[in-house]
Amino acid sequence: MRALVYVEPRKAEFQEWPDPVIHPGEGIVRIHAAGVCGSDLHIWLGHSPALPPPRVLGHELTGVLERVDGETGGLIPGDHVTVFPHAGCGECRHCAAGHDALCPRKRTILRNFGGGFAEYVRMPLKNLYRLSKDTDFVEGTIIEPLACALHAIGKCREEKVPIAILGAGPVGLLILQVARQLDFPKIAVAEVRAQRLAQARDHGADLAVNPQDPESLEKLTRFFGDEGCFVVFDAAGVSSTRQFAIRLARPQGLVVPIGMGEEISAIDFAEIISRETRIEGSIAYTRREFESAIRWITEGRVSLKGWVSDAPLAEGQAIFNDLVSANSSRIKAVLKV
Ligand SMILES: [Zn+2]
Ligand SMILES: [Zn+2]
Repeated sequence: MRALVYVEPRKAEFQEWPDPVIHPGEGIVRIHAAGVCGSDLHIWLGHSPALPPPRVLGHELTGVLERVDGETGGLIPGDHVTVFPHAGCGECRHCAAGHDALCPRKRTILRNFGGGFAEYVRMPLKNLYRLSKDTDFVEGTIIEPLACALHAIGKCREEKVPIAILGAGPVGLLILQVARQLDFPKIAVAEVRAQRLAQARDHGADLAVNPQDPESLEKLTRFFGDEGCFVVFDAAGVSSTRQFAIRLARPQGLVVPIGMGEEISAIDFAEIISRETRIEGSIAYTRREFESAIRWITEGRVSLKGWVSDAPLAEGQAIFNDLVSANSSRIKAVLKV
């Protein structure tokens, strides 16, 4: 088959790659569209030593089930499907909760099955979810990042509280739209790039500020008033946003780091201690959240207008280069196979 192969840091080539070999209990999916995630770019930049090249990336996938080997749970070849990319052991407490990404014995699409920037992928059948044939393949790739946003929003212990979102990339814009749909009363977004700030305004932010503006913290403080900001989602994940999040959350407030712009950051623990800040990371989603994300996309509850664009898989290298450049006009790219 043809695949976009990550061959060395900052280099992916569209080339021949071995076809996946089906195992019992698995299906082979003919991929139609594959979203480019921040984590794919992180690996492509060479920042993930556990996932060295050569390798096929991509885990936000839609396609058509082509072949099966085993009990299909109702799926039949020809069904349109999306892929749940974490395959837990099925026995531990995390798997029981449907949160396969936390399973200590999990297998993942990138580590164990081969990624989806390719014509075909193999996955366990219990990791394939049927999509309505009316769902556009490109739109369907947003199910996975939307599930991440639903999981992050689920970290709010109290419902419908004032929140801030740092970073208006794909996950930030999805958290924003989910919070808006769920009637959160006050939503502020901080983002340095003008185009992304405009997207945040278009998609429902009550206040959108550039954190490089020296008055941004004051504007946010005024916006949240005496009750303060209950929850801050850091969808960027660099030292400056992590520190900003801790400063912005009200005493006993919650900071939810979800973006992984960098792995290690220096942050001020005196502020965390003196304000009793809670920090709770957010990774992936449960199966139930993934199923809700399928419904949200099927029902057209999130808008992809202005921030999702597609390109042919063969152009992947150019798209990756563009996405990591500081002046890219792309926010979310989906590769069509
Ligand atoms: Zn993703
Ligand atoms: Zn498990």
